[in-house]
Amino acid sequence: MAREAVARDALKSFVYTGLPMRVVFGAGAVKQLGAELDRLGAKRALLLCTPGRAGDANRIAKGLPVAGVFNRVVMHTPLALADEARQMAAALKADCCVAIGGGSTIGFGKAIALTSGLPVIAVPTTYSGSEMTTIWGISKENSKQTGRDPKVLPKAVVYDPELTLDLPAAVSAASGMNAIAHCVEALYAHDGNPIVSLMAEEGIKALSIALPKIIVDGKDLSARTDALYGSWLAGCTISTTSVALHHKLCHVLGGFGLPHAETHSIVLPHAMQYNRDAAPEAMRRVARAIETVDAPRGTYELEMRLGLPMKLSDIGMKQADLERAARIAAEAPYPNPRKVEYAPVLELLRNAYEGRRP
Ligand code: NAD
Repeated sequence: MAREAVARDALKSFVYTGLPMRVVFGAGAVKQLGAELDRLGAKRALLLCTPGRAGDANRIAKGLPVAGVFNRVVMHTPLALADEARQMAAALKADCCVAIGGGSTIGFGKAIALTSGLPVIAVPTTYSGSEMTTIWGISKENSKQTGRDPKVLPKAVVYDPELTLDLPAAVSAASGMNAIAHCVEALYAHDGNPIVSLMAEEGIKALSIALPKIIVDGKDLSARTDALYGSWLAGCTISTTSVALHHKLCHVLGGFGLPHAETHSIVLPHAMQYNRDAAPEAMRRVARAIETVDAPRGTYELEMRLGLPMKLSDIGMKQADLERAARIAAEAPYPNPRKVEYAPVLELLRNAYEGRRP
């Protein structure tokens, strides 16, 4: 058979836009945070973290030009608390924010940057990928407002796998599948391109090899390094392409109070099943990356091996809300390989609710 340089449909016309990014990667990389602050000319950094990461943040702060630590970050960036962090930054005359933590902490850095323009340095300790995107989100009462703004993109990202050694197995697995979901949707995004597809396939491969090792031994530094590398690539993929049905559905389900990363992992195989026949090249690449035959089923089986919750009913979804969720998801049209329609979306949600094997 004649060899082809790349899959034919990858070389249809495309537009590629790269966001500016500076990445410092590797075990012990956090020691270079001082040099990164110097590069920005920062003399009064505000460190951000959750209460659980405060020990790490205080240790990292030693010897650095830190004006204060805001250690009360919570999930979903509630507006009132984001405003408190913004006021603290202003009162301290902070000239930079350093977000040490997962997507929630980086979300607070972005909220501060959005209104003040302060530069953010991200030190990610989960696999959310938020550090690579211009997407911000702020919640008020029961809804989350999101948007894109180049101001919130971190000026530098320091990836140090040593900081992820204590990330609990269950959080690692769910957060890692959240990253794989970014890659999967980038592979069939209407505005995808060959560069993003390379990163997406490599990201899925790195994560799918690393995560099963991490749940056996969370201190496996080489697996942690691979997973963080995969999550960086995954973050890159969503930074320049549009997400589709899977992410939209998870956003809708978030409105019902479901946890972010677990929702992503449960919905992913079912969203893939929904799109399987409409996105054959993407499915082929996912299957190749995780060394399986059928991409949705292989993804489901990977999650089973990781011991993840497999049913929306396991994480607090109410059966009575499935129809409403399907209606919201089907109401606003958006690009997706297969048309988004109420009846099949409801079937998808029912499958995810019951954790059926695709
Ligand atoms: P998270 O940041 O809420 O962290 C989960 C928990 O793990 C927290 O309690 C945290 O303290 C703890 N933790 C974090 N790192 C740890 C470590 N190394 N060791 C031990 N414990 C650790 O979870 P997440 O999944 O990273 O982020 C979810 C949030 O990120 C959601 O609000 C989501 O909307 C947002 N997000 C945003 C984007 C974007 O582009 N804007 C992308 C992905 C996710």
